[in-house]
Amino acid sequence: MLGLMQNQPMLISSLIEFAARHHGDAEIVSRRVEGDIHRYTYREAAQRARQVANALDALNLEFSDRVATLAWNGYRHFELYYGVSGSGRVLHTINPRLHPEQIAWIANHAQDQVLCFDLSFLPLVQAVHAKCTSIRHYIALCDADKLPADSGIPNLQSYENWIGGQPSRYDWPVFDENTASSMCYTSGTTGNPKAALYSHRSSTLHAYAAALPDVMSISARDAILPVVPMFHVNAWGMPYSAALTGAKLVFPGPAMDGKSVYELIESEKVTYAAGVPTVWQMMLTHMKPGGLRFSTLRRTVIGGSACPPAMIHAFNNDYGVEVLHAWGMTEMSPLGTLCTLKNKHDSLSDDEKMKIRLKQGRVIYGVDMKIVDGGGEELPWDGKTYGDLLVKGPWIIREYFQGESDPLVNGWFPTGDVATIDADGYMQITDRSKDVIKSGGEWISSIDIENIAVAHPAVLMAACIGVAHPKWDERPIIAVVKKPGMDVSRDELLAFYEGKTAKWQIPDDVVFVDAIPLGATGKMLKTRLRELLKDYQLPA
Ligand code: ADP
Repeated sequence: MLGLMQNQPMLISSLIEFAARHHGDAEIVSRRVEGDIHRYTYREAAQRARQVANALDALNLEFSDRVATLAWNGYRHFELYYGVSGSGRVLHTINPRLHPEQIAWIANHAQDQVLCFDLSFLPLVQAVHAKCTSIRHYIALCDADKLPADSGIPNLQSYENWIGGQPSRYDWPVFDENTASSMCYTSGTTGNPKAALYSHRSSTLHAYAAALPDVMSISARDAILPVVPMFHVNAWGMPYSAALTGAKLVFPGPAMDGKSVYELIESEKVTYAAGVPTVWQMMLTHMKPGGLRFSTLRRTVIGGSACPPAMIHAFNNDYGVEVLHAWGMTEMSPLGTLCTLKNKHDSLSDDEKMKIRLKQGRVIYGVDMKIVDGGGEELPWDGKTYGDLLVKGPWIIREYFQGESDPLVNGWFPTGDVATIDADGYMQITDRSKDVIKSGGEWISSIDIENIAVAHPAVLMAACIGVAHPKWDERPIIAVVKKPGMDVSRDELLAFYEGKTAKWQIPDDVVFVDAIPLGATGKMLKTRLRELLKDYQLPA
């Protein structure tokens, strides 16, 4: 016997229509590429998303055709999120920080038909358009009078001109909720990038889950600032969860430096922000010297790479901002775990609570996880035993878009991360399996070694890599960027490790560098760092 409830497919268009109808006057504020601040409401965003849908119809785009973006977090990008997916096309958010060759490769692989780009990426589009053979239309996300003349880009028009003449009414099509809605390529630090292809169902389920109180806890009472880019796993789903809850949205545009982000948080009374550790590091560095404080910020989600304990402490103890440590990946839409405490933890001391908060957290309903050994046998949840982390669930990848092989192992997706899980189900990432340092048959977590270094007051950033060693196979060294105007010597830093980790885990050397190479998603690029240090010799 089937249930007798309405069978309404979960479609992304329903999120924006909900926001327009029930939170019509809630604001969406964007710092534009032009530098000024733009503000309007969900009601207006929905109207313009419908204009986008009409404009795509006018281009005779087919169902499931791909529409690419090269764009910062802003209102026009937000309209494309809904207009493209809502009308049954697939939004392909391209990461502009990728190498131009890779961008062309991705656009061809996805068979993008349209490319919408912020004017800051005009030179990039000029450089790659001739190689992007499937793209038929180029849309510059700007007013008609800002459209560059003689750009050399064929079929180029301004966004405002493109949607301007279109009606703001549109009957969103109703179709199977398993239809593809958007796609995102992984950064491809090894080999060619691979695409996760999200569906309406996976994205709306993920949006529900992300908004839960024990997850990102997004509400109509919040003003949320996704600093995590909309080209990086849909800004962790926040553009969807914001519409689902009616939260005020604040978009930083291209200005992600510490000063700009801080000022936006203050001027727009942001209560809630989300981003990778490097962004927050820049903001804290900006705030410290002038003794700046937050007046409204209460919570921040930090993920994408391990959040150093020193950062969690600084937010928590110095600024009264709760840090929610999150873990996920492109293939997981991206949320897998978030670190929030349980009722039974109430009576713990602050120190004991902090120990839990440093972990990557427990899974959200919808995701299941396990750790296994090299033979695929499940390992115990004791908080000590580490193994390969596998996940499954309705917003986790089944296969890559036009992928060559089945990525799953008995229905589970191997994340490439190594982790422990404790008896309460809190997972802690030990390392990415390719970054873990194998010394004398034992594993050293590069994350642990980095966390100790960045706890030193003179250290701005630190990256630990393994260097070949004749006896131990590999030994860790730590590459360090000093804070401006601060100093620490090699020996002082190595002495700082004493008592904080086992002796054999202390790095063999410190290499001071001006900068640590960052990848397209703002994470430390250890492959590049290893290349840069290829001639490095361990001290005898
Ligand atoms: P890529 O970096 O290849 O673009 P993702 O952005 O999807 O891919 O990154 C996913 C990976 O980032 C995870 O597999 C994990 O290694 C790392 N990661 C994400 N969040 C965290 C976290 N909170 N702590 C440690 N590592 C994390």
